[in-house]
Amino acid sequence: MADGSAVPDNGRMDPEEFRSAGHELVDWIADYRTKVGSLPVRSFVAPGDVLRALPATPPAAAEALSAVVADLDSVIVPAITHTQHPRNFAWFPSNASLSSVLGDLAAAGLGALGLSWQSAPALTELEQAVCSWMRQLAGLSDAWSGTILDGASTASLVALLVARERATGSSSRRGGLQQEASPLTVYCSREAHSSVSKAVLLAGYGVDNLCLVDAPAPGYEMSPAALAAAMAADVRQGRRPAAVVATAGTTGTTAFDPIGDIAEIAGRHGAYLHVDAAMGGAALLLEERRELFDGLEGADSLCWNPHKWMGTVLETSLYYVRDSAELVGVMATDPSYLRSSVDGAVVQYRDWGIPLGRRFRALKVWFQLRLDGPDALRARLRRDLANASRFASLVGAQPDWHVLAPVRLQTVCVRHEPDGLAGTALDDHTLAWCEAVNASGRAHLTPAKLEDRWMVRISVGAEATEWDDLEELWALMRDAATATD
Ligand SMILES: *Cc1c(COP(=O)(O)O)cnc(C)c1O
Repeated sequence: MADGSAVPDNGRMDPEEFRSAGHELVDWIADYRTKVGSLPVRSFVAPGDVLRALPATPPAAAEALSAVVADLDSVIVPAITHTQHPRNFAWFPSNASLSSVLGDLAAAGLGALGLSWQSAPALTELEQAVCSWMRQLAGLSDAWSGTILDGASTASLVALLVARERATGSSSRRGGLQQEASPLTVYCSREAHSSVSKAVLLAGYGVDNLCLVDAPAPGYEMSPAALAAAMAADVRQGRRPAAVVATAGTTGTTAFDPIGDIAEIAGRHGAYLHVDAAMGGAALLLEERRELFDGLEGADSLCWNPHKWMGTVLETSLYYVRDSAELVGVMATDPSYLRSSVDGAVVQYRDWGIPLGRRFRALKVWFQLRLDGPDALRARLRRDLANASRFASLVGAQPDWHVLAPVRLQTVCVRHEPDGLAGTALDDHTLAWCEAVNASGRAHLTPAKLEDRWMVRISVGAEATEWDDLEELWALMRDAATATD
């Protein structure tokens, strides 16, 4: 108003109210992170508990922040498996570093609209800069250019869409796959993530045209000989190898497919090569681990998730390609309301992926890199690698305990195999002691199948995890395994 008098309260939170509520909420988050190690790791709610604790109808009137925060404490926190807990060893590290939380808050506060370069030039150009910084930190050549997607599943889908268009000379700009004369095939290790088969399905190849290549013990990495044989057999039968997805750090055992050999075999058939390093990619930050990725420069695209071990808040998935023009050729549309005079001179990230409106994701990485610094990040990753290998030595030295796969990074796969237990009885024992550990609330582990037998994965790498936490876990595991013998 012209006279500067107070605007009548229209129910909208104004900046001054936000200032005070925001401080209160930041305090609440800091308190949560301080006490998270004393909470049960696993959530013990039953299906429907949360829903029943919530009103069935929307709020009739505005409430105070204190009422919302009280429900955060009483309804929400007990219904979370605390991935930030120091004794969370489940799935994979899903760190949300507080430096990155601040970047996420800044992104939400700015409320920038990422539709085009013009709609928020900084959103685009900070993303370009951050993708370049991360590329340099990962030791990748400047032949790669990157974007930030929501996740590795989307990256696999985008890669397989590009591969499809490459193999068919842009069939989607004509009659699509429905007019192709012979089927296109895709290859990945049988240890590859389920998102690869989902991407095959969504990109229209049909799951019958996905070949799960052998990945034998003891390392569980893709066999290049089996890949070459499968591709040659498909060609003989009139099928066309279109793409290979290599995994750098499988979900089960963190196996690394031999990218150099795979690139060479894919190259013989003109097949596109995507590298899924969703979890393992963080190890690129460590020079001494880069040999695991030998041959990477021969791939067409690469994805890795800073939102896992590195600790950037979800959804931060780096997607790099060697030929961005090819990617844009597949993804671009050109609606009139998005055209501007700078088109052609700028990057339009909407043409590097699927969604149009994008969040200011680069801020999360920018804050984390600047506030924590790369050295601290590398030191933490090295701590986790050392803890995992020390834990594997400790467990592997005990009678009846076995480490089942090479510890390439921070995941240790184990089984307790007392004399006389085999087959399904061994499976029952494995699942029982794992569940006993999880039911204690003092640590959390994930069982998984390896060659059709249950085993237990200990995924080290929560930001708060120190060696003491692994010692406590080991005591819990031994107690649980002997109690359920
Ligand atoms: C976690 C993971 C995925 C899935 O990543 P999202 O970002 O959750 O889609 C895919 N592949 C591998 C190897 C993973 O570790």
